[in-house]
Amino acid sequence: MQTIYLDNAATTAIDPEVIDAMLPYLREHYGNPSSIYSLGRKTRLAIEESRKKVASLLSVKPSEIFFTSGGTESSNLCLQKAIQDLQVTEVITSPLEHPATLNTLKILTEKEGIPITYVGHHPDGSIDLEKVLTKLETTPERALFSLMYANNEIATVHPIPFLGKLCREKNILFHSDMVQAVCHIPVNLKDCNVQFASISGHKFHGPKGVGVAYIDENVKISPFILGGGQERNMRGGTENVAGIVGLAKAMEIAIKNMEKDIRHIQDLKRYCKESIKTHFPDVQFNGDASANGLPTILNFSFPENENTTLLQMKLDMMGICISGGSACSSGALGNSHVIRYIRPENNVPLRVSFSRFNTKDDVDELIGALQKCLNERIPANG
Ligand code: PLP
Repeated sequence: MQTIYLDNAATTAIDPEVIDAMLPYLREHYGNPSSIYSLGRKTRLAIEESRKKVASLLSVKPSEIFFTSGGTESSNLCLQKAIQDLQVTEVITSPLEHPATLNTLKILTEKEGIPITYVGHHPDGSIDLEKVLTKLETTPERALFSLMYANNEIATVHPIPFLGKLCREKNILFHSDMVQAVCHIPVNLKDCNVQFASISGHKFHGPKGVGVAYIDENVKISPFILGGGQERNMRGGTENVAGIVGLAKAMEIAIKNMEKDIRHIQDLKRYCKESIKTHFPDVQFNGDASANGLPTILNFSFPENENTTLLQMKLDMMGICISGGSACSSGALGNSHVIRYIRPENNVPLRVSFSRFNTKDDVDELIGALQKCLNERIPANG
């Protein structure tokens, strides 16, 4: 059976060119980057070259790039260090953030006894900008605001550069989870005016287990992982050299081809949306299904009935990989905190997420499989 992979917001297939870039660091260049002999110097150089490449692609300085194990660790690092080291007195975030942000902030604010405010969203998933502005205007200095660039379930894109400018004027610390935005839509990190950002390699055809924490050079925080002082003392532990090289290569490919890839992916999203609307008139789209939303993600719901029961599992049996929520809650179909917030009534949500490797044939396969599931006749007595 052919596999149709339409879950690229969960993870992406690693690009063969990225594998080629990584292989020498898995085979012959295995030296510890902290060793002073040439085998070690070679891997140290690879890390620093990757750091320079990533920094230049994001329009920031190499000294502001810290390699981590992924998006979750980056958010833990940034939020934990901001709250613990920077005298934060209040936290503002959104209820639709990724669990890496929500759970970290919940535990930290409880532990430190700091108030936390969740700013609201409109039913289409966009942030309630008026409420955010009022909140930011009336917030005391040394607040921390955390808002994702683009939502991983419903494709809404938030005005991060605009909010970043405001936060800087108000001296409010700003963290943005950019995991679904960087390498998918144009992001100039410097223009965002954030102090902290989280990025993950496996979301843009890089390897798993490697990410980036961006930390503004003016922010002074203590080490996150204590050990041998790697990553300029921020994160002890021998570096994931091949992973770092792979992340930098994947970012380079993604940013070089971004315009072309966005056009292709946007076309797929439009085609998928129109096909679904044509074949399933009772569908409801969640979040931003328009051209303004994240091109990679399309989220929609069907009414709950006998045919939509276990829909994700039935699609899996037909070779279709598709999500009912975020990667962390896959399997928990319909149990996504994001969908529950914007569509409280009973429904069966599905998230299709595209990459440059998808084609219209993949969408046709999905539609065919959905037709089989949804138009199935249920015997009168069950
Ligand atoms: N933030 C967002 C918006 C995500 O979509 C994800 C992954 O699903 C993460 C954070 C976590 O990233 P990682 O899997 O690299 O830990």
